[in-house]
Amino acid sequence: MISCPSCESNHTVKNGRIHTGKQNYRCRDCGRQFVQYPQNKVIEQATKDLIDKLLLERLSLAGIARVTGVSELWLQRYVNALYAVVPRSVTVSAKKRGG
Ligand SMILES: [Zn+2]
Repeated sequence: MISCPSCESNHTVKNGRIHTGKQNYRCRDCGRQFVQYPQNKVIEQATKDLIDKLLLERLSLAGIARVTGVSELWLQRYVNALYAVVPRSVTVSAKKRGG
């Protein structure tokens, strides 16, 4: 599935090839033209660990993306997934069981 790097829509169509011969795509939702994953980068676990630490330091996502070299879009997805699995810190009104 090829999704748009701008709006993440899957309504993308092939749009010829760019001069390097790579397949070009166009998003039907936002109109953006793009080549699929020009860098096709795999994020290493070490980088993810570093990102986890930086998140705790309350750096901005843009800052973390710059430091670690990942794309902001990828980072946004990563953070979303992260917060989806981490249970919300519910403020449990501690009912003290006094015995
Ligand atoms: Zn789009």
